[in-house]
Amino acid sequence: MYTFEDKLKEYAELLVRVGVNVQKGQDLVITAQVDQASFARMCVKAAYEARARSVVVDWGDDAVSRMTFLNAADDVFDSIPEYKVRFNTDYAEKNACFLRLVSSDPENLKGVDPGRLERMHRATGRQMKRYRELLMSSAVPWSIGALASPSWAKLVFPDLPEPEAVAALWERIFMAVRVTGDGTAVEKWRQHQENLQHHVEILNGYAFDRLHYYNDLGSDFTVGLCKGHIWCAGGEFTPKGQFFMPNMPTEEVFTAPDRNRCEGVIRAALPLSKDGNVIENIRFVVKEGRIVEATASQNEEVLQKSIVVDEGASRFGEVALVPYDSPISNSKTLFYNTLFDENAACHLAFGEAYPMTVQGAMDMSEEERLAAGLNKSITHVDFMVGTADLSIDGYTADGRRIPVFRNGNFAF
Ligand code: ZN
Ligand code: ZN
Repeated sequence: MYTFEDKLKEYAELLVRVGVNVQKGQDLVITAQVDQASFARMCVKAAYEARARSVVVDWGDDAVSRMTFLNAADDVFDSIPEYKVRFNTDYAEKNACFLRLVSSDPENLKGVDPGRLERMHRATGRQMKRYRELLMSSAVPWSIGALASPSWAKLVFPDLPEPEAVAALWERIFMAVRVTGDGTAVEKWRQHQENLQHHVEILNGYAFDRLHYYNDLGSDFTVGLCKGHIWCAGGEFTPKGQFFMPNMPTEEVFTAPDRNRCEGVIRAALPLSKDGNVIENIRFVVKEGRIVEATASQNEEVLQKSIVVDEGASRFGEVALVPYDSPISNSKTLFYNTLFDENAACHLAFGEAYPMTVQGAMDMSEEERLAAGLNKSITHVDFMVGTADLSIDGYTADGRRIPVFRNGNFAF
């Protein structure tokens, strides 16, 4: 029987060795909350064991963030301090790895002025442009790992006393990332990568023109795919050939929708946690790629603000396929955390597209990417659309209709 400590240690090693895959002589930047210091230290230890050059921890604090959003002077939200921009950009340009440990209370910013949040997003997007581009284009290795916190655990398991809720959430996280404490997680991830690759190859073989989604929830939605789109999954290579796993867990196979060729009605199958607000029952009406109607039964205003931060925020940047029968989906746990929930179900994202999902786009100018159908935005928000009865048909350029999903799962 493996202890909780064994599992934590294995998880820290997994994030460092498979997640960012830090190399001998490379710098690692870890972002963590102060109340997760002990886990962050385990990651630091694992990184030095992998012969990292240096490990820097960029500490955050939920409580301070909340106080800032509630009390700071209004102009604070129109820019971020230049030293923060330089810190991230300098390390990224020096080819450091970036590991983000997320444990925030999903409702930490509840009740905060959405205008402040939106301006802060805009400022971050504008000032961190270079850094974001390096990450989004996989120029440097990066990864995100989630840690259980009391507030998050209470949201996921409201009926359990706090310590039990935290323990239960940790067990769900370990299950989702294939950690058992026996030290085999790294090998299990190698196998998992192979399975993802199987679907990638079939989908790339068809080179679909578009996908048609339909289910009883009321989605009837066509996603045009970019010409020369590439389906991707799991790990990626930097231009220098360093393999890394941006998201752990990851169950998705994803590519780029054409920003001008999405059409119809799409409904979210799960609530979306955004800036500390849980948005329920999202429904989008889309015309010629643009969201023309956005409704929700709760926090509709937050939803509507998030699709107008710029022109691209009302268009789609990602289409991802996830079998309804996946470890996270089968755990029947709503995590209120996109990293997990997006791997429980098929999803779409409005906002920025990933350039590596279109052939040649890594070397294209911004204008060329737009012309290729790749969406451009300072935001990227995933929302879940997969249900147990979801069907997806793929249409080839010569008009053949191929079942891609039936009853929520891959048809091949
Ligand atoms: Zn995704
Ligand atoms: Zn996404």
